[in-house]
Amino acid sequence: MPQEIVCSRCGYVLYKGDVLKPPQDIVRKYNGRCPKCGKELSFSPDRVKITPYRG
Ligand SMILES: [Zn+2]
Repeated sequence: MPQEIVCSRCGYVLYKGDVLKPPQDIVRKYNGRCPKCGKELSFSPDRVKITPYRG
């Protein structure tokens, strides 16, 4: 199922796609920070939202 990983602070789309990726990979890709607002990325459930993407 396509998924979307969004910064919980600014709404920046960190990842969107068909492939389910380990959140750690996304964190690593952005060096642990949201490229837009600089928020430290942590994938505990209250910090980022992972939602099914409906195109
Ligand atoms: Zn952000």
